[in-house]
Amino acid sequence: MNFTDLGLSEPILKTLSVNKYTTPTPIQAQAIPVVLEGRDLVGLAQTGTGKTAAFALPILHRLSQDIPEGKHKLRALILAPTRELATQINDAIWTYSKSLGLRSCFVIGGVPIRKQKRQLEEGVDILVATPGRLEDLISQKACSLKNIETVVLDEADQMLDIGFMPAIRRLLSQMPKQRQTLLFSATMPKEISSLANDYLTDPFQASVAQVSATADRIEQTVIHMENGAKPTAIFKLVQQHPGKRVIVFCRTKRGSDKVAKKLGSEGIGADAIHGNKSQGQRQRALDAFKKGDKPVLIATDIAARGIDIREVEVVVNYDLPNVPEAYVHRIGRTARAGASGFAVAFCSPEEQKLLRAIEKVIKMQIPAKMADGSAAPNMDRPAPRKVNKNSRGRSGAVTAQGAGVPGGNPNKKPWHKRRTSKLDANGNIVAIDQNEGAPKGKRPRRRKPSGPKSAAS
Ligand code: AMP
Repeated sequence: MNFTDLGLSEPILKTLSVNKYTTPTPIQAQAIPVVLEGRDLVGLAQTGTGKTAAFALPILHRLSQDIPEGKHKLRALILAPTRELATQINDAIWTYSKSLGLRSCFVIGGVPIRKQKRQLEEGVDILVATPGRLEDLISQKACSLKNIETVVLDEADQMLDIGFMPAIRRLLSQMPKQRQTLLFSATMPKEISSLANDYLTDPFQASVAQVSATADRIEQTVIHMENGAKPTAIFKLVQQHPGKRVIVFCRTKRGSDKVAKKLGSEGIGADAIHGNKSQGQRQRALDAFKKGDKPVLIATDIAARGIDIREVEVVVNYDLPNVPEAYVHRIGRTARAGASGFAVAFCSPEEQKLLRAIEKVIKMQIPAKMADGSAAPNMDRPAPRKVNKNSRGRSGAVTAQGAGVPGGNPNKKPWHKRRTSKLDANGNIVAIDQNEGAPKGKRPRRRKPSGPKSAAS
């Protein structure tokens, strides 16, 4: 399929060819004709699938068929959960709409409101906004939603996580009932499907096989280690990928700062972005990362949402996320636009539960190893006889059902969790007692402690 088959106007097709977009991505091929028709749509797709162009191109096409003579009225609104995502969507719209005679702007928190008010007063056709700042502007009468023809809710599941649902519902209820609503989400928790039920009319369902399609191109590994071994392990991991861009995800702002400090003290260019950093600091960190001046970016989930940086080769889950879906978002930072990538997760004994929740969501068992590079005991043992038909991996392979993996006896603490391993200051295993608590007959052979190997590959 080609972009010319989708019904887009000549000027848009020209822009696409200038930007070297030749073939529509699957979400674009499904969504563009439907959005051009004016139909509502639910798009199950995450960042990196080309979803921005999937909604932006047909919206631009429709708006550009009717350019107003006088002041431009706000006819299309795109709501995004984070400032970074809003900035990126705005950049994309600016690129795609250069020759169309449409006016667009974006409004986000954390920057002065005055300029945003002025731009809105001058008149725009398209607005990209985060919900909080948009509500501020509406309450100050700087903008109105009464002429909205199309609204996009981008990364709806992230809006839910951040707590934006009440604001989204308030904003939707200020728009004309006769409008087009497009909802994009990487996952479909029940709150999002009920939002779709309440505000969308007979939506077309577009979906791309996001998790497995992404996972196919991402080499995923989990490395088991104590929390105390993580600072050294991250340093070694970054060292093993010279010249590569690495994104490191931490659960807390303080944790991200600590990792940035540790890497900085080892002479590695690293910046942390999180909610305590100003918009300017975040943007400077992103720019330095994009240019390759600082090859490591440490981020919390919220700060990293929607970041579109091509050529991120390695994603590290320094801490496992509390919400398993966040793992999907995190690893989606690599392997973009057809490239391949690595996703490495550091898993402490306290995080085993989180790992199992992630494996349940991604429907596969992530290959595991110990910090010294040896295979993790139990984790990749062959599957025992009992097979649960719901627990097939993406290749159809049966995932292990023993203790410690989804489907195991939930009441019994898995023996491998009771394993005691001792790590030296470099994160290498110096002693391991794999047999502690292991059921008779299932005890793996005692592994010899290996020499000082690298913490991760
Ligand atoms: P998105 O999922 O919208 O964040 O897009 C991910 C990346 O893919 C962005 O850098 C886009 O510029 C790029 N992209 C989107 N659609 C295409 C396409 N059809 N061909 C090539 N690159 C694309």
